[in-house]
Amino acid sequence: MKELLKKLIQAESTPDKGELAAAEVISAELGRSGIDSRIDSWDQTRANIIAQVKSAGHKAALLFACHLDVVGPGEAAWEKPAFGGVESDGKIYGRGSADMKGGIAAIVTAISRVVDSGTKLQGDIVFAAAAGEETDSCGARRFISDSGRLPEFVGVVIPEPTDFEIITAHRGMLWLEVATKGKAAHGSTPHLGVNAITSMRSVLDELENYEIAAEPHKLLGECSMSINTIAGGKALNVVPDKCSIGIDIRTLPAQNHQDIITDLEKNFAKLKAGNSQFDAEVSVLRQVQALETDCLCDFVKDFCSAVQDSKTKAVGFTTDGPYFASLGAPVVIFGPGKPQLCHKPDEYIQISDVEKAAEYYKNIILKFLT
Ligand SMILES: [Zn+2]
Repeated sequence: MKELLKKLIQAESTPDKGELAAAEVISAELGRSGIDSRIDSWDQTRANIIAQVKSAGHKAALLFACHLDVVGPGEAAWEKPAFGGVESDGKIYGRGSADMKGGIAAIVTAISRVVDSGTKLQGDIVFAAAAGEETDSCGARRFISDSGRLPEFVGVVIPEPTDFEIITAHRGMLWLEVATKGKAAHGSTPHLGVNAITSMRSVLDELENYEIAAEPHKLLGECSMSINTIAGGKALNVVPDKCSIGIDIRTLPAQNHQDIITDLEKNFAKLKAGNSQFDAEVSVLRQVQALETDCLCDFVKDFCSAVQDSKTKAVGFTTDGPYFASLGAPVVIFGPGKPQLCHKPDEYIQISDVEKAAEYYKNIILKFLT
């Protein structure tokens, strides 16, 4: 299992390099236990991998849904090489070790062990590892768009790093760009142009006091909004014809993303009514719905008993979970690795945690599928 994790880290599945090499590592590993997998690949380097262990079919299937991609190494220096898969002090270091190649190594190992043991399954195990979770969820969207091929699921387990906490809820994410349009002119004759940066000032003033209407959620707290990027102007002697900001909105399960966009557009239409030169457009850069699985449903209760824990929690980060929830099955996030190490230099995972996770996943498979 250690060797599998090292190879997955070395496969360097960043947005630049794509996921195909990591998918091939998994395909070879599953093949050693005689498990067929299908690599769905596009744009030369992008890939999802899907494997289905067939059963007698008397029970609904269980889906383990992972992501193959990792974020880049970042600007800060690493002590250990980011893609070396170096082992030291009982840990394996490297980008993706915690998020989430440790979880992938554990579930692939668990599935192989169940198959190798000859256990008779009553429901299918489906394993999917998708592309692009860190950027645009393209792989998860592609996977669910092909749902005609999929069996009915009793539930979905996402082996993301939760340090073995059972997560049933997270906020959604709505990333918007607001762009103001103006008219370029020479910097010495600004009256001949329309300054897009000046228009953006009106947008910023409007947003300063703007609040998204939403009742706080008992587990997830408030909806939040923060303007985190701004860009505008090309040269000091040119009146800018475009200025844009990026807004990071974290949403709650009851909120409809389109309602938020429509409300913002209404506000900008009012600004335009007061100033005909004002022109602003809202576009969606990325969105993931919030996740809320009913903690009292049978799947969560049985999951808790399989891992011998009774507490479920909510977290601040988002996952591809809501895409998999759209298949109509409850989703639980549960895996090895500390979430606070994700996306940081010298990311690592304890080897003992990966081993522990493989045991948990095996017990989960046996609980639901035998
Ligand atoms: Zn992740």
